[in-house]
Amino acid sequence: MSGRVAVVGAGLAGAKTVEGLRRRGYDGRIVLLGAEKERPYERPALSKGYLQGSDERDSVFVHPADWYAAHDVELREGTAVDAIDLRAGEVVDASGTRTGWDHLVLATGSEPRRLQVPGAGLDGVVHLRTLADSERLRALLTAGRRVVVVGGGWIGLEVAAAARAAGCEVSVVVRDPLPLARVLGPELAAMFADLHRENGVDLRSRTEVSAVVPAGEGAHVGSVELDDGTSIEADVVVVGIGAAPRVGLARSAGLHVEDGVVVDAHLRSSDPRVLAVGDIARAQHPFLGTHVRVEHWANALNQPATAAASIMGADEPYDRLPYFFTDQFDLGMEYVGHVGLHGYHEVVVRGDLSSRTLIAFWRRDGRLLAAMNVNVWGVVDDVQALIRSRTVIDSARLADPDVPLADLLPR
Ligand code: NAP
Repeated sequence: MSGRVAVVGAGLAGAKTVEGLRRRGYDGRIVLLGAEKERPYERPALSKGYLQGSDERDSVFVHPADWYAAHDVELREGTAVDAIDLRAGEVVDASGTRTGWDHLVLATGSEPRRLQVPGAGLDGVVHLRTLADSERLRALLTAGRRVVVVGGGWIGLEVAAAARAAGCEVSVVVRDPLPLARVLGPELAAMFADLHRENGVDLRSRTEVSAVVPAGEGAHVGSVELDDGTSIEADVVVVGIGAAPRVGLARSAGLHVEDGVVVDAHLRSSDPRVLAVGDIARAQHPFLGTHVRVEHWANALNQPATAAASIMGADEPYDRLPYFFTDQFDLGMEYVGHVGLHGYHEVVVRGDLSSRTLIAFWRRDGRLLAAMNVNVWGVVDDVQALIRSRTVIDSARLADPDVPLADLLPR
């Protein structure tokens, strides 16, 4: 099959799209355009192992440097795309160069939300998104430094753990009563709060940063002021207050965009020649029966195979359940499923919250929506099967670690 595919965005989702096409035998022209002057890399290690110095730099890249040429993929690093011309079937980059396509895949990812308070531009205030950001931050996390983390989401908590491991004094400022409260609900969010407090993190909740203040007359941060009237001395401020999908190109081109590029289960947008993958894709999910947008690594890893299949004319909808993981201090966990807008009725815990060895199940009307295994491994397949079965499971059996998960499946 010949033709031309342009992929905009050279992160994990972009790299996996071009890999998926070549794997399926696509023999047309492939151009992969990325704004960064770095070949595609994966982000999980940037706030975990690479930040802590346990992962090598080489391990974060999706493919070896020579992979792209070897697979006849034109990788254009440092090339920001400014516009999509749907009528001509071209993208236009910042230098005005036009690249033609028969299919276009948008894999533009997310932009970190910036801290908007006085002093947010001072030296020592770091937003974490890129490999270069992670390297800059890693150099700042040295023993004895005072680090203030703004935001109690995944970046905030993973960076807090990395900073403690490096011997820093760490405060985390969370505007909700608990970190991760909106994602996990109070029951499991409290477990993460306890984990951080027990590891020496100063957790400041129900408050926000109102200003970042320089040290003396200088340009470097010296402290942060909170809206509860207190202040915290700081050598480094790390901002992890969420990210926004980069949908500007799609919107300007007139594609259907809500909080992401709206795509069907085959990841085709309102113009079927244009597909979207990764953080920006608001995709119809066959099992969940609604559109979902997932800002996690596994989605960027797995959706591209579907996009490649769609381009090749195959009928393979993307039906994987959302999945993500974290490592913080001695806690490792995996989360699978989707609670959704309607929320959950109860959390059933199998195991022990206090020792943080458990599986938590979020349920609605007795059916499983999502589950998180904490320091328990090898259960994700069974959990997914339980979610997909839509079975109403007896609470006592679900909570009982002596009942194998597979025995809870309908016969
Ligand atoms: P995040 O996980 O969405 O968390 C952002 C947190 O910041 C939320 O708790 C949010 O609270 C809070 N927040 C938002 N605006 C704020 C403000 N002005 N002041 C104080 N707090 C504010 O985002 P993130 O931690 O920045 O991570 C960025 C992206 O990377 C996300 O898509 C995340 O999923 C992804 N990531 C994932 C992993 C993983 O899967 N392990 C690790 C790192 C990063 P509300 O909930 O109240 O809005």
